[in-house]
Amino acid sequence: MPDAFAELRHELAVANRILANEGIIDAFGHISVRNPKNPDRYFISRHRACELVEPSDILEMTLDSKPVVPTNVRLYSEMVIHGEIYKARPDVNSVCHHHAPAVLPFCATGVELVPLFHLGGTLGAKVPFWDSRDEFGDTNLLVRTPEEGASHARALGAHYMLLLRRHGASLAGKSLRECVFRSIYTTRNAELQLRAMAIGTLGPLSAGEVEKCGGHNLGARGVERAWEYWVTRLQKAEAMWAAAGLPRLRNLAAVGRPQTAGLAPTRRAAQREERARSRTGTKNRR
Ligand SMILES: [Zn+2]
Repeated sequence: MPDAFAELRHELAVANRILANEGIIDAFGHISVRNPKNPDRYFISRHRACELVEPSDILEMTLDSKPVVPTNVRLYSEMVIHGEIYKARPDVNSVCHHHAPAVLPFCATGVELVPLFHLGGTLGAKVPFWDSRDEFGDTNLLVRTPEEGASHARALGAHYMLLLRRHGASLAGKSLRECVFRSIYTTRNAELQLRAMAIGTLGPLSAGEVEKCGGHNLGARGVERAWEYWVTRLQKAEAMWAAAGLPRLRNLAAVGRPQTAGLAPTRRAAQREERARSRTGTKNRR
């Protein structure tokens, strides 16, 4: 039976590998995408490091984070992070959870993460802070129960990034690529903040700048340009894998070309296309 979601599974596998290749996720951490045809379901890999995820590892889950098709394969223990955010935020279509080294100092200290450069505007107006101990006392710090997941989603509120005390970060996006974009650039912002705090006083973006920068950066053109760049870097990295005799993600090149599908062409491109069409039309009539 053909898989109606083959393209989406492929894209999610690529997103997993990009986040690993860019140093956001190592052996632990995960990213998911909501089912575009059924908002009560989402897709996520089985229990596997992001760098190794294949389209065939991607499973469909209910918003209670149970597999739609019963399976014996091992699942991530923190899937409620995803399911509970999808329940609470109908506007969110992708969720990422990671423990990038650059954000951990903020999780350990409670120092506020603030937007410091234009691409850092993707942090949003505020990055709230969630401490599992407040409601649940001593735990193993993983977000595993529906109650913990719901509390975590409440802490995220209407924002797009949440820091988890002594643990990591969770991010939301309106699309998979936006979520990847935000996960990477908020981590770059955290790296910048650590360096900036060592040499001087922080001068964060104003609320107005955050709004304007966030809106501009997250426009389709910016997100697509970055996606093409990250896919190309991934292709280069995976070429080394191939040279080392390790399996590569099949058809990675298929997403290596500029991903401008669905975007309005520039005026000049539209004119070129129109001219080409009329030439073909004339030929056909002869
Ligand atoms: Zn975690």
